[in-house]
Amino acid sequence: MQQELIEKSKKHLWLPFTQMKDYDLDPLIIEEGQGVKVKDIYGKEYYDGFSSVWLNVHGHRKQKLDEAIKQQLEKIAHSTLLGMTNVPATELAEELVKVSPENLTRVFYSDSGATAMEIALKMAFQYWINIGRPEKQKFIAMQNGYHGDTIGAVSVGSIDLFHHIYGPLMFESYKAPIPYVYRSSSGDPIQCRDACLYELEQLLMEKHAEIAALSIESMVQGASGMIVMPDGFLAGVRELCDQYNILMIVDEVATGFGRTGKMFACEHEQVQPDFMAVGKGITGGYLPIAATLTTEDIYQAFYDDYNQMKTFFHGHSYTGNQLGCAVALENVKLFKEEQIVESVATKAKEMGKILQQLYALPTVGDVRQLGFMCGIELVANQETREPFPPEKRVGYLVSLKMRDLGMLTRPIGNTIVFMPPLATTVEEIEAMVGIMKAAIHEVSHVVV
Ligand code: PLP
Repeated sequence: MQQELIEKSKKHLWLPFTQMKDYDLDPLIIEEGQGVKVKDIYGKEYYDGFSSVWLNVHGHRKQKLDEAIKQQLEKIAHSTLLGMTNVPATELAEELVKVSPENLTRVFYSDSGATAMEIALKMAFQYWINIGRPEKQKFIAMQNGYHGDTIGAVSVGSIDLFHHIYGPLMFESYKAPIPYVYRSSSGDPIQCRDACLYELEQLLMEKHAEIAALSIESMVQGASGMIVMPDGFLAGVRELCDQYNILMIVDEVATGFGRTGKMFACEHEQVQPDFMAVGKGITGGYLPIAATLTTEDIYQAFYDDYNQMKTFFHGHSYTGNQLGCAVALENVKLFKEEQIVESVATKAKEMGKILQQLYALPTVGDVRQLGFMCGIELVANQETREPFPPEKRVGYLVSLKMRDLGMLTRPIGNTIVFMPPLATTVEEIEAMVGIMKAAIHEVSHVVV
């Protein structure tokens, strides 16, 4: 029976971000989950060391979330949001506005982080047209940024490995540098930050008249390797956006909902964006709901008689899905009831101490962390920071070894991602880091 399923998966599936030849060698089918663990079809358990790709909050099968979906199912699973609304989508909008930066008052739903970003980009573009500034059509994106895989999101993304092949399909955007302290020549966060802000300002001075908006991940660039921005960088970017009259799109898809020890990572720097894209943790990791939040000023630029043609002509079939919104509502409630953000902030300090042990391994170059968002960059030489050659696939081998030892995560190149569910206890963190340590140790012996 298990073998049959494996064969079916190999015969018919095509998995995201996966070389299927790798999958065929090491297939894995998950059947159950409970708390911070998932179980495969053979009954083997694994810690969910990456929150099922950065989204799980309360662990799997959280009773109150399960109940919220069941209760909603008793009423209706889905009706459209085109021209009308539904009960949980309406309630959730109010709750989202309450927990978001003060200036954000409007919620536009979609179903993934990428679509939340597409919406922000299209709204920013149309905003300037609607207010009579159609010359502002271009975007600034950050180097190594990642905002999802649809063409608009890819156009403001800049991870060569994923994006370069689609170059001819993308709209052009200007790229601004991001401070990657570990790989900077000075290694000094302040110097690195100021150099990047200076370059951004040069770009803005020259091009601001044609720029609609700048898009940036909030405090941590996730998909490029968990690169934590130095203090003051995000706030500095906000200041420059204000100074040069361009809109700021902050991507909180990975960082939102407590992940970094604040409800939204932009709160670390008191940044109020013009657009905030959220997804992943919004439903506690249960269902595909995402949202783009924006300001009253932006909303009003679209609000007019129909014949003025200012409507935002964008939507998706499942926009505002009731089951998703119902579970998201319960999730937001649980954040309050269980003081999730506060507990992440406290546990993250312990996590930081536990992670420090990893430096004892000679192939651990840099341990980066903000809250429950961590990246461990593996290097061939700790002293010189010499990277491993990509073709050795050290990160991938380490993640396979971790899987053997009972923990799932996915690497980014040679950076190991560690992002357990926010409900993970300190004891569980210790056990997970123990597995990571053993896997890095074993693989390093073979590779070096
Ligand atoms: N934005 C950021 C910062 C992300 O990390 C991701 C996914 O990892 C996305 C957008 C895309 O989200 P989704 O996979 O839900 O489209």
